[in-house]
Amino acid sequence: MKDKILRNLEKLKEENLYREMPEMAEGAGKYIKLNDKEYLNLSSNNYLGLSELESVREEAKKAVDDFGTTSGASRIVTGNFSIYDQLESRMANYKNKQKSLVFNSGYAANLAVYSTLASRDTLVFSDKLNNASIIDGIKLSGAKQIRYKHNDTADLEALLEKHSNCTEKIIATDSIFSMDGDTCFLYKITALAEKYGALTIIDEAHATGVLGRGRGFAHEIGLADKVDVHMGTFSKALGSFGGYVAADEYIIDWMRNKARSFIFSTSLPPAVIGATIGSLKHLAKYPEIGGRLLDAAEDLRFYLQGLGFDTGGSSTQIIPIILGDNKRALMAKEFLMAKGLYVAAIRPPTVPVNSARLRLSLRLDILGEMDKIKSAFKALKEAGI
Ligand SMILES: *Cc1c(COP(=O)(O)O)cnc(C)c1O
Repeated sequence: MKDKILRNLEKLKEENLYREMPEMAEGAGKYIKLNDKEYLNLSSNNYLGLSELESVREEAKKAVDDFGTTSGASRIVTGNFSIYDQLESRMANYKNKQKSLVFNSGYAANLAVYSTLASRDTLVFSDKLNNASIIDGIKLSGAKQIRYKHNDTADLEALLEKHSNCTEKIIATDSIFSMDGDTCFLYKITALAEKYGALTIIDEAHATGVLGRGRGFAHEIGLADKVDVHMGTFSKALGSFGGYVAADEYIIDWMRNKARSFIFSTSLPPAVIGATIGSLKHLAKYPEIGGRLLDAAEDLRFYLQGLGFDTGGSSTQIIPIILGDNKRALMAKEFLMAKGLYVAAIRPPTVPVNSARLRLSLRLDILGEMDKIKSAFKALKEAGI
């Protein structure tokens, strides 16, 4: 066993795929602090920088003062304080759904969604680039997973047609794809779901807080009512932690009764719930901030494309710069670091082979630094990387 693991670790190193955790003095703010140096943070998912706001921090502190540092048990036992209910009714309202349920992470939420809604009798049609937590949730459910080509609704339709005699079908998609920054073709997906009698589940992890005046991509394009199950996370643009599901009452009731990642795990600590409520209050006051970020991302994307970089199908605050070779991506990351920018290099297996890339995630609190960002990329191009 040990020899095998050591051999495989060696192999990862040879292929430039060995993963390490960069030691960060600070990583969620406007600047990343690393080895006593500061870099503009272009790689966190804290898109709106809400975790930095005094009002959000105050809500978290207040929750600690009121309820302490742990919930002490699962929600089903004694871990259900009033702020959890407050957060859930806020989310149900926000998403315009009958009910919502909070989970310990987006990952735990996806395990819950698929393991409770799908079973061995279900076919789940899942976009090839869907988040790993969706894939794991489907595995856990025992359902058959049918992966369709990324954003290829013709492929999806052909597969639905092929399996039209199966009575239980689910279509699963991310709204914003995390490594490409493109969005799903939700209009076509919901139309196909209607035609073939499938339940639709959307993962709004990267869109929540940003698109649709914060409510997500389905709301942005006016299709929220056509989607049966909305899930997402508080750990990205909301600057906090935890996952949510918003859906019809019967679905939420079923999950509360059956989801093992909900029942057999201690609920989130009060500070986290407080921070999330703080962020939602901020968004209720300033719902336009996500749109401002998207505008700036559009401007930056045009600039990068003008330099000749391949930004894929990005149309959001996530902008990939696809370089292909693993080593080239690492070199580009180093080059930008020397210019004071921290942009993550993403390699297989997180992205397909030969599509290693920089993944730039723009955030609201660095829009004032746009000139610095642009000139660093200009220099990268001129350096021939
Ligand atoms: C990040 C992410 C998740 C998991 O959310 P966490 O709260 O970080 O566990 C699920 N789905 C997608 C699409 C994500 O990007």
